[in-house]
Amino acid sequence: MFSKILIANRGEIAVRIIKTCRRMGIATVVVYSEADADSMAVEMADEAVFIGAAPASESYLVADKIVEAVKQTGAEAVHPGFGFLSENAGFAKRLAKEGIVFIGPNPKAIEAMGDKIESKKFAAKAGVSTVPGHVGEIDDTAHAIKIAEQIGYPVMIKASAGGGGKGIRVAWTRKDVEEGFPAVRAEAKASFGDDRIFIEKFIESPRHVEIQVLGDKHGNVVHLFERECSIQRRNQKVIEEAPSPLLDKKTRDAMGEQAVRLAQAVGYDSAGTVEFVAGQDRSFFFLEMNTRLQVEHPVTEMITGVDLVEQMIRSAAGEKLAFGQRDLKINGWAVESRIYAEDPYRGFLPSIGRLVRYDPPVEGEAGDAIVRNDAGVREGDEISMYYDPMISKLSTWAKTREKAIDAMGRALEDFHIEGLGQNVPFLAAVMDQPRFRSGKISTNYIKDEFPDGFHGVTPTEFQRDLMAAVACAMHRTYLSRSAPELQRNEWIVVENGVRRMVEVVEDGGLLFPEEHRTLRLTHVDWRPGKPTFRGVLDGVPFTAQVKPAAEGFVIRHRAAQAQVLVLTERSAELHEKLPPKKAADTSKMVLSPMPGLVVSVDVVAGQEVKTGEVVAVLEAMKMQNIIRAEHDGTVKAVNAKSGDSVAADEVLVEFA
Ligand code: ADP
Ligand code: ADP
Ligand code: MG
Repeated sequence: MFSKILIANRGEIAVRIIKTCRRMGIATVVVYSEADADSMAVEMADEAVFIGAAPASESYLVADKIVEAVKQTGAEAVHPGFGFLSENAGFAKRLAKEGIVFIGPNPKAIEAMGDKIESKKFAAKAGVSTVPGHVGEIDDTAHAIKIAEQIGYPVMIKASAGGGGKGIRVAWTRKDVEEGFPAVRAEAKASFGDDRIFIEKFIESPRHVEIQVLGDKHGNVVHLFERECSIQRRNQKVIEEAPSPLLDKKTRDAMGEQAVRLAQAVGYDSAGTVEFVAGQDRSFFFLEMNTRLQVEHPVTEMITGVDLVEQMIRSAAGEKLAFGQRDLKINGWAVESRIYAEDPYRGFLPSIGRLVRYDPPVEGEAGDAIVRNDAGVREGDEISMYYDPMISKLSTWAKTREKAIDAMGRALEDFHIEGLGQNVPFLAAVMDQPRFRSGKISTNYIKDEFPDGFHGVTPTEFQRDLMAAVACAMHRTYLSRSAPELQRNEWIVVENGVRRMVEVVEDGGLLFPEEHRTLRLTHVDWRPGKPTFRGVLDGVPFTAQVKPAAEGFVIRHRAAQAQVLVLTERSAELHEKLPPKKAADTSKMVLSPMPGLVVSVDVVAGQEVKTGEVVAVLEAMKMQNIIRAEHDGTVKAVNAKSGDSVAADEVLVEFA
């Protein structure tokens, strides 16, 4: 076994690998860029080596610097994590030449599977069912149209070197191919330095089901069942689970058998993932093989009890797999949510910045469930623009799917993040959404169920009660500290404009006299200034995210949020007579949707602009975001120029 391993990665996956190494008694080295000098991974590793500037192309992607760090520290092996150099056969070969072990598959397997065109050819030869299409490179747009028409619309145009959901486009018509082919080609060239494109049938409303495989250097390969990753946005996974609610035993065995056959055919000798698209009828077709540890590996670990990082290290060290297919069983159900620095209320725009507050749920047993949070950040850390905007991966396990989802809902309630936009409320909405709970999902799920984006959900009756109870408790706590003479038992609670009478009775009791109902709020864990309010309402444990507002409190429970006022009868009457506060009129302004750098402002004062015309271009997270006019008008003033950094909601352009 190795005595020292270097981790050529950052963030949560570097931390994840360190944890297993520690358990195995292996010393760790991490490399880090300028942006990660104070990171959690650097703090946790036994040694850390600086490798350059923040952009990955100057640090985490530079093989020379990694090799240099290995030599300098005397590490015997390199774990590449995912992304960066993890699927780079050249890097694996280079390490071998230097006498350093690559903790991943052999370079031949990476080469054979690293490329979508080649891997599809290989899979077809190995008897794996592949998506119907043209298994070869496409020369130009005319060729693309010909192939698309042979396959029949809709088709998917794909970059052979693509990954991470990039370099993919659906074409429903000839015109889509005319536009899409050059676009995918340009994107592939820019993102992967490789502009080879192929076209395959687009499977409508499919599900993404993938098989985890594991091999050793002695020809043994097993599979660790499937993960379903159909909850995606822009072809990128958001929520994953294991097992898949779609599969029956027969399909699972067939898929597992094909994945193992493919792995054996390429001499696979590490952890890897064979991805399939599946129809609702359980037909399935090979998509690609990822020759690395997968982001969503925790759900497989939770249902099988196998530590995949440990197994990768053992195979790389030449050990034989210590178990066979028959030793592996599915135990219970696991769900993973990717917590991203993105603002679900603003079209999921990237929203990077500092984690002013970061308070994840407690890991470990939670009733009859288990909570796991894979993170590489601490409070005060920055989610930078240079890397993936993932904050953490929250996973829950329980005996059944329903219980695992319930546990995820509760864990998300407990996740408190401030300082940047984050998708926790959105993930909570999915956990409560009937179609997700039914398991009848597809890769269109988010588009189907949130067609106009995400705007929170209307509070349920339970949530309205919860908000009233929480607001009363907070208000009374403030009063008892600052103005005890104003304390009373009868209140009017106004939640999103709806008023209810509330009477505080003994033992945390709350009486709604108009509704002839009493509730009981107990086990309150809150003090002024605390952003999370924990309690038990009529026997149901909950956590609400709370903050004082100009008037009353803003309270969020899962995906429901409301402003809640606690008033005396008299102040409620006065309140009703007050004219409602008018929101500032922003209809004549173009606001910056997120913090970023102004690339260009494309209009000048006095210019007539039509709906849809480009007003400005903003760069954030290395993505160019085009801001268009929402209606016709004349530009009155331009407040930003190319090169400016702007905050969210800054007025870029005003219309007359
Ligand atoms: P998973 O199925 O594990 O989610 P993804 O394909 O989403 O895998 O990629 C995992 C990570 O690796 C992401 O951070 C993604 O951005 C990165 N990644 C994957 N393939 C590539 C690639 N070809 N080039 C750059 N980054 C990639
Ligand atoms: P990446 O390397 O970016 O992960 P994949 O080939 O795995 O690329 O595709 C990413 C996602 O795009 C899949 O999970 C699936 O949702 C969707 N997808 C890919 N190919 C097809 C297809 N032929 N039909 C329907 N959906 C597809
Ligand atoms: Mg994929």
